[in-house]
Amino acid sequence: MSDDFRARARAWLEANAPRRRAAEDEDEASPTTLADQKAFQAKLYDAGFAGITWPKAYGGQGLTGLEQIVWSQEARDFDLPNGAFFIGLSMPGNTILEIGSEQQKKRYLPPMLRGEEIWCQLFSEPGAGSDVASLQTSAVRDGDQWVLNGQKVWTSGAQYSDFGAIIARTDPTKPKHGGISMFIVDMHAPGVTVRPLKVATGHTPFNEVFFDNVRIPANALIGEENKGWDAAVVMLRFERIAIGTMGGSRTNPLGYDSLRDLAAGLGRINEPGVRRSLAELYARSRGVGLFATLLREEAQAGRMPGARGSVAKLAGSELGRFAGNVAADVLGDQLAAYDSDELAAVATMIVAAPGSAIAGGTSEIQRNIIGERVLGLAKDPGVDRSTPFNQLRVGTQRQN
Ligand SMILES: Cc1cc2nc3c(=O)[nH]c(=O)nc-3n(C[C@H](O)[C@H](O)[C@H](O)COP(=O)(O)OP(=O)(O)OC[C@H]3O[C@@H](n4cnc5c(N)ncnc54)[C@H](O)[C@@H]3O)c2cc1C
Repeated sequence: MSDDFRARARAWLEANAPRRRAAEDEDEASPTTLADQKAFQAKLYDAGFAGITWPKAYGGQGLTGLEQIVWSQEARDFDLPNGAFFIGLSMPGNTILEIGSEQQKKRYLPPMLRGEEIWCQLFSEPGAGSDVASLQTSAVRDGDQWVLNGQKVWTSGAQYSDFGAIIARTDPTKPKHGGISMFIVDMHAPGVTVRPLKVATGHTPFNEVFFDNVRIPANALIGEENKGWDAAVVMLRFERIAIGTMGGSRTNPLGYDSLRDLAAGLGRINEPGVRRSLAELYARSRGVGLFATLLREEAQAGRMPGARGSVAKLAGSELGRFAGNVAADVLGDQLAAYDSDELAAVATMIVAAPGSAIAGGTSEIQRNIIGERVLGLAKDPGVDRSTPFNQLRVGTQRQN
C-alpha cells in the first residue's frame, strides 16, 4: 500500500513540483504568486495529496500517518509552492479538526485543502508575546454575535488571508488563562485593518492587525467559551511540531546539501573552517531529522508528542540559526557584496534565520516548557495565575 502510494507521490511530484525555490519570496505573495500558490494547492488536492490524514468527510484523503510520512519523505526533494497555506493547514486547520464544531469542519476545512481560502493565526499582541495569556484584545457578547476590539501583531500572511484564528479575552474577571476564547474571524469583515510590517530583509512577511468593533457570529467560537487557552495550547502544539519538522527539505538553501554545493561552487570546500562547519551542520541536521521522524512514527503508533513538540521546535529552530551562521561562513565577503541572484537569496535567508528561534514561541520559552513538562522541574512561581486578569499590571494595564 505505502509502496504504491510512494510511487504515485514521486511520479506526481516529478511531474508537477519544482525542485528549487522560486526566486520570488513566498511571504510577499504578490497577486500573481498567490494565484500560483492557490492553483498549485488545488492541483495537489485534485491529485489526492492534500489533507492526507484528514477524514474524507472534510475533504481529506482518510489515509494513515504512514502515508503522511511517505509523502513528507518524497516531498523533501521538492519545493512545493504553496507556502501561503502552511499556517492554515498546520495550525487552524488541525485545531478545528481536533476541537472545532461539525459545522466548522464542514464549512472551513475543504476550501482550505482545495486552495480556495488562506488562513492566519492571530495570537501575539504588543503586550503579549511569550506571555500570550496576557492578551488584551476583547470579545464581548452582543445577542447572537461577538464584538472584537484590540490589536494583534506579527501576524504572518494577514495581508492575504481570508480567515484568522484569533484568541481574545471574553471574561476579564477570571485569572488570565481562564477568561480567553478562540474564534474564527473573517479578515475581510468591516473594522479589520491590516498594516504590513517591514523586516530586516526588506520584505513584509507579517503585519499588525487592528479590530474595531468587528462583529463575528456566535458560532465562530472554536471550542468552549473561556476555554480558549486549551484551544491555544492545541494550536501551539501543532505549530511547534510543524516548525520543528519543516527544515528537512533537501532543496532548503540553508540545508547541508545546498551549502555544500555552494561552498564547492565558490571554491571554498577545502578550507578547514568551512569543512568543519559543514560537518557539524550535517550531524545536527541528521539528529533533528531523525527526531522528527521518531515523533512522526510515534504519532502514527498513537503516542502523541505533547510537550516533546517543544524539543522538536527548539532543535529545529536552533538548527536554522546555526545553518545561518554556516551559510555566512561559506559566503564570506559575498554575504554583503554578492554578485548573483542565488547568493542574494542565501544572504536574505541568513538575515531571516534567527526569526525561527522567535516564531511559535522563543527558544527560552521552549526551554521553560521542556524543563517543566518534559523533565519535571519545578514551575516558575506565577502569582498572576490566580489573580483576576483585570487586576494585573500587564500590557497597557501597567499604566492604570
Ligand atoms: C517570523 C515570525 C513569524 C511570526 N508569526 C506570527 C503569527 O503568524 N501569529 C502570531 O500571533 N505571532 C507570530 N509571531 C510572533 C511570535 O509568536 C512572538 O514574537 C514570540 O512569541 C515572542 O514574543 P515577543 O516578540 O513579544 O517577545 P517577548 O515575549 O517580549 O520576549 C522578549 C525576550 O524575552 C525572553 N523571555 C520572555 N519571557 C521569558 C521567560 N518567561 N523566560 C525566559 N525568557 C523570556 C524571550 O525569549 C525573548 O528573548 C511571529 C514571529 C516571528 C519572528
